[in-house]
Amino acid sequence: MKIGVLALQGAVAEHIRSLKLAGAEAVIVKRVDELDELDGLVIPGGESTTIGKLMRKYDFIDALQQFSAQGKPLFGTCAGLIVLAERIAGQEEAHLSLMDMTVCRNAFGRQKESFETDLDVTGIDEPIRAVFIRAPLIEQVGEGVDVLSVYKDEIVTARQGHLLACSFHPELTDDYRLHQYFVDMVKESLAARA
Ligand code: GLN
Repeated sequence: MKIGVLALQGAVAEHIRSLKLAGAEAVIVKRVDELDELDGLVIPGGESTTIGKLMRKYDFIDALQQFSAQGKPLFGTCAGLIVLAERIAGQEEAHLSLMDMTVCRNAFGRQKESFETDLDVTGIDEPIRAVFIRAPLIEQVGEGVDVLSVYKDEIVTARQGHLLACSFHPELTDDYRLHQYFVDMVKESLAARA
């Protein structure tokens, strides 16, 4: 099982480390031809407009839509969550348009631009430590989307089948249980595709 971390922009090395701790082989991905050998992909945080631009420039939009159509799991964190969404509040255009949800960028007010909290996540036993940095929130989800965690009444983690998204940075702590959750999704999808 091999999982890639999209390295167009943003926090890459920390995701590689967390995936390895969760028992996966993890590689940096910079070109579309590297997607073929992968069973899953993480889209890290950073700046979603920049990531979206670079995705268009390097032909990742079509390639990742096909990747997803094969049932291969994708995990978007922070800006990566924005990139996965079908709808971005206040913007005409989305990026990958894969998850049936509306997201709101930089949604936590000024004083709360960056903060840490312990978060209950469905499917994970004890609360996880979550670091929010100019984080988006999920404003609305479609029927096929399961809400996995909520912070102060706002949705911050969601799953739609083989797609997982969270508002925060799970790679910035030693707690790799959300990566473990994703690795388990990749295992399930491999079994289903076998
Ligand atoms: N604020 C960024 C955006 O809108 C996301 C921040 C992050 O990934 N930490 O793209």
